[in-house]
Formats: sequence, C-alpha cells, structure tokens
Amino acid sequence: MSEIKRRDPRTEWIARNRLHPQHLEVLAELGQGVASEWMGSAGIVRRNPHAVGFMGPNGIKRIDRSGVQQGAGGGGAAKSTAQSKPLVEIEAPAFLVAVVPDLSGGRLSSHDRDLLGLARQLADADPERRGAVMAVVVGAHKEDSYADAGVDRLLHLESPELDGYAPEARVGALVAVEEAWEPRHWLLPDSKLGGADLGRRLAVRLGERPATGVWQIEADARGEGGSGWRCTARGAANTLDIQRPLPRVVLALAECAEPVSETRHAAQPLVLAQPLPAQLSRIEDLGPVAVDPAGVALAEAEFILSAGNGVRDWDGFHRAAKMLGATEGASRVAVDDGFMPRDRQVGATGIWVTARVYVAVGISGAIQHLQGIQSCDKVVAINMDSGCDMIKRADLAVIGDSAQVLEALVALVEQEREEKRHAA
Ligand SMILES: Cc1cc2nc3c(=O)[nH]c(=O)nc-3n(C[C@H](O)[C@H](O)[C@H](O)COP(=O)(O)OP(=O)(O)OC[C@H]3O[C@@H](n4cnc5c(N)ncnc54)[C@H](O)[C@@H]3O)c2cc1C
Repeated sequence: MSEIKRRDPRTEWIARNRLHPQHLEVLAELGQGVASEWMGSAGIVRRNPHAVGFMGPNGIKRIDRSGVQQGAGGGGAAKSTAQSKPLVEIEAPAFLVAVVPDLSGGRLSSHDRDLLGLARQLADADPERRGAVMAVVVGAHKEDSYADAGVDRLLHLESPELDGYAPEARVGALVAVEEAWEPRHWLLPDSKLGGADLGRRLAVRLGERPATGVWQIEADARGEGGSGWRCTARGAANTLDIQRPLPRVVLALAECAEPVSETRHAAQPLVLAQPLPAQLSRIEDLGPVAVDPAGVALAEAEFILSAGNGVRDWDGFHRAAKMLGATEGASRVAVDDGFMPRDRQVGATGIWVTARVYVAVGISGAIQHLQGIQSCDKVVAINMDSGCDMIKRADLAVIGDSAQVLEALVALVEQEREEKRHAA
C-alpha cells in the first residue's frame, strides 16, 4: 500500500466546523481531541472548561454531572447524546406493531416519529408482555436514526417494482409482511404523502375496517372490541370526534403521540424469508410532473432558497427562486418583518426541512434556524460575514452581497439556457 498520506477535504471541513454533529468525533480521529484534564507543570490537575459537556439535542451545551463524560474525547455530539439514552432491547416480543412511515425525501418526518411514539404506547403498555415496534420501510431511503425514533425491528423491502408510484406493488409487499409476521396492529400516517392512500388500500386487502384520522388512543377500561384500546378520530369532515375500539389498521394524524426521545432501541434488521410476490401492476409511473415550486410545502421541498435579514432586494430574491426552480423559505426575522408569509419560516418554531439543497441567503445561522435545517443534505450560504455560524455550517459558502450574488446566479442560468436553446 502507498505510504502517501491522502487529505480528506470532508474530514478537514468537519474539523473546522464546530457546529457539525461529528466535529468532536473527527477531532479525536485526527488526534486533535480536546483533553478535558491534564497535569500541569506545578503538579496541579488543570481542567479545560470548554472540553467539558456535550451538545444537547436542542443545541444547548449540557454538562453531565453523573460522572460519565459525554461528548468530550471524541464521542461526537449526536452520537454521545444518543449513547447517553438507555438502550431498550426486546428479545422475544409478545407481538409486533408494524409502522409504515412515509419517509418523505427518504427521511422520517415528524409525523412518522409521532406514529412511532404511538406504536411504542401500544407495544410497551404491558411490561410483562411487551411487544416490539417494527418499521416497514418500502423502497429507497436515507434515514439512519430508526433506533432513536423507537424502532425495535427494521424491515427494509427493496425492489425496482416498489419505487415511484406503485401502490399495488407496495400493498402486495405489505401483505407478504402480514403473512410472515401477522402484526397485532398496522399503523400508517394519515397523510397526503402516501400513508393515507396506502393504509386504506392495505385495510381493504386485509379485510379490516381501518380507523382514520386518529389523534389519540387510550386503554379501554370498558373492555369493548377485544384490543384493549380505544381511539379517538376526527370524523364528519373534521367537525366531530368519533370514539371506537382500536382496530388492527390505524391511520393516525400528526401529533397523535409524543415522539420517542428518552430511549434508544435496537432497530434490529429483519429479512423477509420468501421473495416479494410479482405484482401485475395496472399502473405505470410516468415519472414526476413539473410543479410550481412556490406551491410545494416546505417540509417536502427538495431545493430551498431561503431569505434572511441580509436580503434587501426582495424582487431579485423572488426572481432568483423562480429562475432556479427553488421553493422559497425564510428566517424568522424575514417573516416577522412581513417580507415572507409565516408558513415559509424555517426553524425550531417554523418548519423542519429535509431538502437536498438548502441555500441560505443573508441568514446568520441562529441555533433556532440551524435546528430546522439539520436534516438537509447540502447547505449553501450566501453572506457578507465570513465568520457567521451559517458559513460554518455550510458545505459551500459564498461571501458577498446577497443581491449581487443572486443577480450573477440568475445571469448564469439565463446564459446557460440561452446556450442550450441555440445548441438545440
Ligand atoms: C424562542 C425563539 C424561537 C425562534 N425560532 C426561530 C425559527 O424557527 N427560525 C428562525 O429563523 N429564527 C428563529 N428565531 C430567531 C433567531 O434567534 C434569529 O433571530 C433569526 O434566525 C435571525 O434571522 P436572520 O439570520 O435572518 O437575521 P440576522 O441574525 O440579522 O442575520 C442577517 C445575516 O445577513 C447577513 N447580511 C447582512 N447584509 C447582507 C447582504 N447584503 N448580503 C448578504 N448577507 C448579508 C449578515 O451578515 C447576517 O449574517 C427564534 C428565536 C427565539 C428566541
């Protein structure tokens, strides 16, 4: 093997970026970990106050007083937070609760996490006979936090037939899971992102009468219905609540339960013994159609151009978003100042986004904003201040005036389109 040391630009970037979740981990790998204690020349133990503690999930530095130092010395903030949670392992579950998450953009949405919280309520109700929560992931995904979201068993079903809009193939795959494991309950998000449709189709195939629009479940003191649970669901076009015994197939609304935050679970992989049945699909997916990016919900948008207090030329910003085909987002300051509508606010008190590319224009990178973009794949920052936190978080930074940078970007896109038109 060659002795030549190769540089890894990504590792170097994480080492420079103290806000990156793997910052401490990478520093330790590079041998630059921050020692929390050492013996000084006078024989006195010295402590580095900056190396003590770890970043909590809300971005606030926490000090662990239990004696087990978390984070310092190379755990990595996210990893150390996860490791600090007690691990729950269910070896021989009495039953399974299957959850089919939407995985919008390939990641667990907040709705999916609420649903897993609901599944935990069902699985953990009887400590003597605990069930296990099984996440059934259909098609490609990029999520790696199933254990923290409360998943005991993880079943990933992959096949080219399951990609795109393939409701029949997906229901066929879920029926194969039903035959293999017979989960006590099937939980799906009652959402427009796929869960509502898939759940209803599944219920028909299983011959079950589903509960839809469920927002609460509780133990059934009256003992009706056999499941030991009752559910409350929105009905009659959202005008009233309907109570009924909890059926096997449940389509639940967002905020139906608290997401799991206190425990870590095994997320043990499961494999379907028999191959997925070949489906005679009557639907052919012709691919996505072009939609107006301005109308796309922020939580689902793949490409977001987001404006902050550093944007002065608002016409230029909207023009750039249109030209780039990006969905518009905003910082809270831009919303509070009346330049953008409230439903465009990104952040802890706005929308948590999962875009593949997030372009922050004139946004400083306050922790509340950074929380909302933590699941984005690539962050591009346009800012005058090269030392601001958004630049530290970004994968690509452009230092300059937002109006000028956007104008130049628009000119480039126009030029490229012009060239393509001539070439055609
Ligand atoms: C409880 C609570 C909840 C909050 N929730 C949220 C939330 O959900 N989302 C959110 O965004 N905020 C939230 N905030 C507000 C947050 O703390 C920040 O105040 C806010 O994010 C700052 O917005 P900003 O970056 O647009 O503005 P600023 O902090 O004012 O930053 C403006 C940036 O623009 C740059 N700039 C200036 N001029 C130019 C130019 N011409 N070209 C390029 N760059 C330029 C500056 O260098 C600066 O970095 C919350 C605050 C609290 C207290």
